[in-house]
Amino acid sequence: MDIENLNTNGFPDESELEKIANQLFKSAPGGLQNNSGFSEQVHNQYEHNDTLKQSDGVNDLGKISQNLVNNNNLGFGKVTKSVAGSGISPSAINHPSDFSLEDPQTSLPDPHFYNGQIPKSVAGSGKSPSLQNQDLTHGNVTSHNKLPFETEQPFEHELKEVLSQINSTFPSSQLPHVSAFGINENSYYFLTGQNPLQYGNQLFGGANQNQNTHGISSYVKPPFDINLVKADFPILKERVNGKPLIWLDNAATTQKPKLVIDRINHFYEHENSNIHRAAHELAARSTDAYEAARKKVQHFINAGSVNEIVFVRGTTEAINLVAQSWGDQNLNTGDEIIVSNLEHHANIVPWQILAAKKGLKLRVIPVDDDGQILLDEYAKLFNSKTKLVSFTHVSNALGTVTPAQQMIEMAHANGAKVLLDGAQSVSHMRVDLQKLNPDFFVFSGHKVFGPTGIGVLYGREEILNSMQPWQGGGNMIKDVTFEHTEYHNAPGRFEAGTGNIADAVGLGAAIDYVNKIGIDLINQYEHGLLVYGTNLLKQVPGLRLVGTAADKASVLSFTLDGFTNDQVGQELNKEGIAVRTGHHCAQPILRRFGLESTVRPSLAFYNTCADVDALVTVLHRLKSNQKRSLF
Ligand code: PMP
Repeated sequence: MDIENLNTNGFPDESELEKIANQLFKSAPGGLQNNSGFSEQVHNQYEHNDTLKQSDGVNDLGKISQNLVNNNNLGFGKVTKSVAGSGISPSAINHPSDFSLEDPQTSLPDPHFYNGQIPKSVAGSGKSPSLQNQDLTHGNVTSHNKLPFETEQPFEHELKEVLSQINSTFPSSQLPHVSAFGINENSYYFLTGQNPLQYGNQLFGGANQNQNTHGISSYVKPPFDINLVKADFPILKERVNGKPLIWLDNAATTQKPKLVIDRINHFYEHENSNIHRAAHELAARSTDAYEAARKKVQHFINAGSVNEIVFVRGTTEAINLVAQSWGDQNLNTGDEIIVSNLEHHANIVPWQILAAKKGLKLRVIPVDDDGQILLDEYAKLFNSKTKLVSFTHVSNALGTVTPAQQMIEMAHANGAKVLLDGAQSVSHMRVDLQKLNPDFFVFSGHKVFGPTGIGVLYGREEILNSMQPWQGGGNMIKDVTFEHTEYHNAPGRFEAGTGNIADAVGLGAAIDYVNKIGIDLINQYEHGLLVYGTNLLKQVPGLRLVGTAADKASVLSFTLDGFTNDQVGQELNKEGIAVRTGHHCAQPILRRFGLESTVRPSLAFYNTCADVDALVTVLHRLKSNQKRSLF
């Protein structure tokens, strides 16, 4: 099979590649569905129940069919555990031998990711896949001393151990890909350095793997390659400044899998209606979809009741709701609220506004030089006036994971209520609210692969039902006269007016996607990636890591000697690498470290060691050019 058209970079023309890919996949077991078949399939996936022909108000939510939940229309229930870090695409899981039939997007060879070659992913091997793919001449590093990831890494062993836990935590019987492809169950190809194509050969019988002079076989991605996870996210195929986009700004917002985009699209094409209010079919469909999403959220964070899940705009709105409702109702002059030094402005300013209005005092838990909560100091802040502790589960500026369980227990022991800000935790670790037991928990959909403009306030049911509404209007009332209004209980009480129905449904789909991979595997994979990134960043001369807690998630904040953070951000952007620079809406914690801003790469499960290598390569290049210009 020859490629006829090469573009100016010497890479094959995309449409040519697509043609070849389609030929390949036609001969793959089961073939590949065409586009019209796909949309038909999507439609069928979301087939509605029609038992509910009439929607009759919030009080009757219990009657609404749980079709979407029970039938698990997306087919997610089939596989309990999946494979972040093992290289299996979630969409490949349900069809380990069919190769992503659910989503043709995931099946197309994607030249963007590889610049024409499948990277031999090498977490822990100490070898960089990006070396094969990147044009290092660009950065004057052709005759460079070896960069850290080109040589054997001292932490290689450590990383191997971390990643091998993925196997030991989940029995191999729960990892269908491993046995299905005859891979050594105690290791992953990216640890052994074995060529993933050989597994592809097992799947496709080798017939489609023929090398040609242009190395076209490299485009064939085996279904268990971690890069297939990337393929579920259409935006990751973008090119920025001529380079494949590397998204390392996940703490600001996460990208959306196609499944979420399709689900929202489907809502507007087949379900759109206001909820709870009409006696027609579409009202039933939209109400079903909306309430099914609420249920998914409940299970995702293990809340005790679906009534404890209130849809809001995001974390910021949720905190403001608690401040303006519970806070305004329950806090009085002289009362105290404890926050930590790590907080995002969204968990500072609403309390300051309330404090100014009601004469309250804000007290701050200090952190040590690594950015860890000082528990002894925290213990000293409690007194009889302490009414609320509001703190983050994971710091968005430093990545510190706070000892939430212990801090919540300490607050409760002192008679205070707790709000836990989960904006940066839900996408990286399991959140079990019945175990953690906060009184309130808040997060944003867009940080967990869902849409913007939708988020969640969890509140303990009895507390929510004792709280005054914060907005009045339709949807939240049982009965209205000019003299008196009776409110619904939660969640309706806090959902006045028409909410963001479609995006709530999209959030439900995002949760399905995360569940399909498995949050524990995501956590372990990302931990390995964080160790990998931390060690490489430490080896960049003049780089100061900001936030070095023992327990961290996702975030790798730093400054680079001799460069402003904006300069670093711009240089990274030239290479298609997106990071956030600035104060990250967390000025108090940066000032604790004597800084006004940092560069902040932040990881998600679709990132790879190659992404980290690309980041580190730019930093080394900046430093080596700087050194040269000094002489
Ligand atoms: N808290 C934390 C810890 C955050 O990281 C963020 C977002 N950066 C927020 C609150 C605010 O979230 P949103 O802007 O989605 O309301």
